[in-house]
Amino acid sequence: MLPTYYACTACGERFDFSRREAVYVTSSNAAPLASQLQGGDLLQAPVRPGWCKDCDKVTIVEDIAPLRDFENAYGAVRAGGTIEYPFDTTGIAAEDAQALVESYLRWRMGRHHAPRALCCGGIRYQFLDVATPLLKHHECDFGFIEGRSHIGGYNGPGPGVYSEADIPVYSSEGVMIGRLTWHDRGSDVWQVVPDEYPKVESP
Ligand SMILES: [Zn+2]
Ligand SMILES: [Zn+2]
Repeated sequence: MLPTYYACTACGERFDFSRREAVYVTSSNAAPLASQLQGGDLLQAPVRPGWCKDCDKVTIVEDIAPLRDFENAYGAVRAGGTIEYPFDTTGIAAEDAQALVESYLRWRMGRHHAPRALCCGGIRYQFLDVATPLLKHHECDFGFIEGRSHIGGYNGPGPGVYSEADIPVYSSEGVMIGRLTWHDRGSDVWQVVPDEYPKVESP
């Protein structure tokens, strides 16, 4: 679970995630990006909270375990067990969970690039969900950046139904290629617009 936001322990400055989730397009005909995507061609990216040193901000970072972990997860769901990574299968029908884990396994086998910070695609980041991240707030003598969590009670129809979802879409190698906007739940079709990583200014 991502914290709701991060804050400096000394001055209280708050650091929010600009985005909290991300999806990969797994269909082979995804490039160039179509204007619509089937929900079944999308995989929720496993992410962890991090600090991007290029963007100087809190961001989600790809959480890519070794291939062996995906093979073990696949074996576990095939044996009727539940897993928590790459996604939590609790409450998902066994054959759906199996098909989904198989998609993750296929994605992981084809993935080459090191995990990226999903703000800019860079690899200069530090994970924030470790026991003692001790990320110092540059502007403060004694401040550290630490997570704050608030439990929300949202039980709506999911993103993209009453308002635009704004969920970034990535290639299987973690390159930003678009954004999901509207979702038709009946047909599970997403509207998608092209997008790309912002250019990072070098200091
Ligand atoms: Zn501070
Ligand atoms: Zn970045």
